Amino acid sequence: MSAPTGGSALTVAVVFPDLLGTYGDGGNGLVLARRASWRGIYAQLIQADSGRPLPTADLYCIGGGEDGPQVRAATALREDGTLLRAADRGAVVFGVCAGFQLLGRFFPDSSDRPQEGLGLLDVTTRKGTGPRAVGELVATAAPDGPRPGGGGSLPRLTGFENHGGVTSVGPGARALAHVVSGVGNGSGDGSEGAWSGRVLGTYLHGPVLARNTALADLLLSWALAGPGEPEPPLDPLDDSEELALRNERLAAVDRSGRAHLVHRLIRHRG
Ligand code: GLN
Repeated sequence: MSAPTGGSALTVAVVFPDLLGTYGDGGNGLVLARRASWRGIYAQLIQADSGRPLPTADLYCIGGGEDGPQVRAATALREDGTLLRAADRGAVVFGVCAGFQLLGRFFPDSSDRPQEGLGLLDVTTRKGTGPRAVGELVATAAPDGPRPGGGGSLPRLTGFENHGGVTSVGPGARALAHVVSGVGNGSGDGSEGAWSGRVLGTYLHGPVLARNTALADLLLSWALAGPGEPEPPLDPLDDSEELALRNERLAAVDRSGRAHLVHRLIRHRG
């Protein structure tokens, strides 16, 4: 287990909920802290607002937001330096949408000028030329995606997306998943999200960790392993409610996919 931070076994920080709280991604921090405490691991959850030094934590969650606050968050995080130092010593950094984009090298502001990201992930985001990507997003684990403890790969990922940015994954990072339905990174290779070491980004809102408990447990196991140590196995939890939510959302996408196909076939024949 990593050295306790601030006297607790695990510290989870939601980064700048005052700037990046538009899409409910703060729920990811809550899911992580609860899943730790349900297993008897004491977890401290910090809502780390902007305008003051970022606290030290084992796991950072950065959510989605509008273009302006996204630029302010990236600038503040670069100037503060805590997140970069934490990532360097092996802390887990998890970003969603704007949070994902700002972990990369560059992302666009509202006038489409490139803004410097934190460079923790080898991804670059530019403004898309098509319509904004809005709707349910389903993706299957990439073959070289992260491996949850015990082997295998992550199950299908479900969430919703709402973004204008298009993200390319560079050679220093790998895709998290491949899009089955929706847009995801939108750069033409069908990829969704990216990861490298213990830094992981995705376009999935939901909050994504409430709909995808396997992804939550992957991040938890990374955070509980010391640098270079194998991830500890996590006790199983009763996820029946989470599974019901997940299956309901996946079934809705499957149904609308089938309806879309039938509609296209009818139009084609008519
Ligand atoms: N402003 C970014 C974009 O539109 C991020 C949006 C979001 O976080 N949902 O691409």
